[in-house]
Amino acid sequence: MTPHAIEHRPSPNHGERESGPVDILLLHYTGMPDDEQALAWLCDPRSKVSSHYFVHADGRVLALVSEGRRAWHAGASNWGGETDINSRSIGIEIANAGHPGGLPDFPHAQIEALIALCREIVGCHPIPPHRVLAHSDVAPGRKLDPGEHFPWARLAAAGIGHWIEPAAIAEGVALRLSDSGESLQALQQMLALYGYGIEVTGSYDQRTVGVVAAFQRHFRPERVDGIADRSTIETLRNLLETLP
Ligand SMILES: [Zn+2]
Repeated sequence: MTPHAIEHRPSPNHGERESGPVDILLLHYTGMPDDEQALAWLCDPRSKVSSHYFVHADGRVLALVSEGRRAWHAGASNWGGETDINSRSIGIEIANAGHPGGLPDFPHAQIEALIALCREIVGCHPIPPHRVLAHSDVAPGRKLDPGEHFPWARLAAAGIGHWIEPAAIAEGVALRLSDSGESLQALQQMLALYGYGIEVTGSYDQRTVGVVAAFQRHFRPERVDGIADRSTIETLRNLLETLP
């Protein structure tokens, strides 16, 4: 189905999709130093995890689960109020040692292959750019992948995903843990409007810290600290304004 050769490496870890349509593309890193070990785990019935595709560092793409089936990659998650993300999504595992391995860069060949694969997928399903997401977006506080070194800007330049140049970091007022009030409600409302699973409580609780960090990891990766500084808020506002 894609311009490059896809090998099949079937995983038994899948089930029926329970809701639809398939309108989310979810990107992961494996977070393991050994790619073959990561792949073996995704294909091991004991692991109960899988993804539809696996992209090696050298750009080889493997198909593990058919797109018609519900692969088990998202776990407990939430986007726009939807919690069965597995039923609604295609999942891609990108071989990368991740945070435990010191966040190594994603090789050029791997990203080129990933872009080609994503293009095919969004061409076959009603997945809008703003629903090409990180695992950390739908599971903030629990998941970090594919991490703040993932080249979202390069994908966006190739037409994949919703991304804009982040607002420059500058000193000034910032919202942080245990702040409360109207400006905090506004921040939580904006995050929820974009899709993040956050309640509008008006207080900067741990959940808010996790969601702000997830937002930064994807959209303002220069500083990921869970503090809603001016640049973070401005970047979020600009993203909402450019939503289709
Ligand atoms: Zn993941």
